[in-house]
Amino acid sequence: MTERSLCPLCGGQLEAGTTTFTADFGRGVVVVRHVPATLCTQCGEAWIDDRQAAKLEELVGNARRNGRAVEVIDLAA
Ligand SMILES: [Zn+2]
Repeated sequence: MTERSLCPLCGGQLEAGTTTFTADFGRGVVVVRHVPATLCTQCGEAWIDDRQAAKLEELVGNARRNGRAVEVIDLAA
């Protein structure tokens, strides 16, 4: 994550923060709160790095196996 890069969409300033990630896989929905991300201060777009994306994929895979309709995971908890 580079702190000083600019948003590829709008050229706005990026800063470190957290975002909420949601995945809908048909039979259920997974919501992951407080995912570390780089946020654009101008357009609000959130950029999740590869390491976090891999982690999210794993969480979504687990939730899918649990078979619950709604799974809410808070990474800050
Ligand atoms: Zn932007």
